[in-house]
Amino acid sequence: MNKCVMCGADIDEKSGKYYCETCEEKMRYVKKLSMVDKAEKLILKKSRDKKEIPDEEVLKYSKVVRERISNGIDKFSSVPEVIAAIQMQRINLEYETQKMIAGTKVDFYIPEIKIIFEVDGSIYHSDKDKTFLRDRQIMKEVGEKWEIVHINSDKIPKYTWNLRDTLPFVVLQRNDKWRFRDSEFDSDFLMDFDSLEKYLRRQKRNENTGLLKANRAT
Ligand SMILES: [Zn+2]
Repeated sequence: MNKCVMCGADIDEKSGKYYCETCEEKMRYVKKLSMVDKAEKLILKKSRDKKEIPDEEVLKYSKVVRERISNGIDKFSSVPEVIAAIQMQRINLEYETQKMIAGTKVDFYIPEIKIIFEVDGSIYHSDKDKTFLRDRQIMKEVGEKWEIVHINSDKIPKYTWNLRDTLPFVVLQRNDKWRFRDSEFDSDFLMDFDSLEKYLRRQKRNENTGLLKANRAT
């Protein structure tokens, strides 16, 4: 008999492991929580540059995500996914993580906007055809009213503060550009939303200064 190096419990020699199952489970849990710590740090660092999201708010919602992991509600496979979850908590957008659909797990299943949100690694997924086929299988199961949006993890957190509006915008852009259900440029469309917002803000500002000048003239 081997002994678990963490707690000393007996383990089956044939398993070739150093830890018992209980300790292994605990370590998995700690690893998941440390992903939230990393996400929290990253988000605080990046939002400090922008000064738009107060730190307390980030901490408040990362706590919610931590609790959801503890309660077995959420599972994540990467830090950017955790960041996106914190951002969705902040705007009260409900989601399910790692939902099993058509024999495969999807990152975020978001009923309110009927979108499946996939966070892709920063290296562009090499097998485009495979992704396309996988997405078609998923669509077949969830139905035609749903869409799947693929966003590159390097766009998180900067462009993902308002997924309730930006994900449907990506779908609209896709359709506008004759790219119905083609997710290749999803990340670019997401960034377009940001430019559009900035443009509108500038317009608004100009309008206001215009009004100010007009008022002064009278
Ligand atoms: Zn143990």
